[in-house]
Amino acid sequence: MNIVEIKKNTNSKAFESFTHNGITFSQDNLTLIPGLCAVDNKENVEKVFQTLHSLNIQCARMGAYKPRTNPYTFQGLEKKCLPYVFELAGKYNIKIVCLEITKERHIEEVEEALEQTGHPTAVMLQIGTRNAQNFELLKSVGQTNHPILYKRGFGITLQESLMATEYIAKEGNKKIMFCLRGMKSEFGYPHRNFVDFAQTSYIKTITNLPICIDPSHSVGNRNKCLNGILDIFHTSSQGVIVGANAILLDCHPNKETALVDGAQALSLEELSWFVEDCQITFDAYQKRKELAKANSKKLSSELLSDMS
Ligand code: PEP
Ligand code: MN
Repeated sequence: MNIVEIKKNTNSKAFESFTHNGITFSQDNLTLIPGLCAVDNKENVEKVFQTLHSLNIQCARMGAYKPRTNPYTFQGLEKKCLPYVFELAGKYNIKIVCLEITKERHIEEVEEALEQTGHPTAVMLQIGTRNAQNFELLKSVGQTNHPILYKRGFGITLQESLMATEYIAKEGNKKIMFCLRGMKSEFGYPHRNFVDFAQTSYIKTITNLPICIDPSHSVGNRNKCLNGILDIFHTSSQGVIVGANAILLDCHPNKETALVDGAQALSLEELSWFVEDCQITFDAYQKRKELAKANSKKLSSELLSDMS
């Protein structure tokens, strides 16, 4: 396997993190990216941004172009919603809006809307799982300066998805975050996709990519366990406890009326609970790292004294 650009290079820190519009993505931190799976109206966009602002969150997801399985269902508001999404993001200090694009023209539309509104925010372009091997699209986003959220292909191998990110890097764009979003398989039942967050640590070991997890599209429901914790929370923890660096999360002010994926959306009231829950797991991960460090030190000094 010949990972040319994204492979781990222990001599270089240059590719281990990137900062865009003041937000740093790296293999060491955890960034939350909650928001609407699909923008439905201006009021809901504002309610979400208001909530994120109150929680000190500066990144949001806001789907405008929606690749749907059924062509007769809502396909997203497309470019019509971009100006108010960007303006409202600026108003609530949202530094990065993450949105999926499915063709080159969408990149131009995003850039036109940013220009028209005076760049009140920045955009992270999302490559959806269905375009994981759309090499021409990957080359196109690789020629932009936007950070890229690359979602692994749900029916190809991990190595194939990692190789696909090379298409982006090869064009010169190294601002790439790799997103685990579950694999399409009936074996994942009752989840929408087979949760794959355990691969986080492996990908971080072999590449420099920060790893995002998408518990919403992985789990696909709001099932609650007997302990009162939503499965989406549990699953997020499974990524955070092994070092995930970002969480892409669906939320909605009124999930019953959501036009896409309401079944997996958190309410805005649940968001602060989610943030606290993540913090607990993130702190535990930091402690696990310290424990590993202390033990490696102890074990190597024991080894040295054994040898002497
Ligand atoms: C999404 O994040 O809105 C989405 C469609 O995700 P995926 O490409 O992972 O299905
Ligand atoms: Mn969705």
